[in-house]
Amino acid sequence: MSVAVIYHCTICNESKKATNHWFAALQTENVLSFYKWEDARTLGILQDDATLHLCGEKHAQELLGRFLHSQPNKETPNV
Ligand SMILES: [Zn+2]
Repeated sequence: MSVAVIYHCTICNESKKATNHWFAALQTENVLSFYKWEDARTLGILQDDATLHLCGEKHAQELLGRFLHSQPNKETPNV
């Protein structure tokens, strides 16, 4: 028996509907990776706690913008 999972956009909290063009993203401290929804499903990461869900390209860009602007200006010494 499977349980239906309702995904919400990380940016606007909209709930996912079948026809929407959604994306998934994974963010670590220094890396932000985007996945097409079906690829994320294939990889089995859709329900991971760390996975971000995005209702479309607009909010994927919003997430990217937040990520870029949140980067600390950490210089790596001796490189
Ligand atoms: Zn959204």
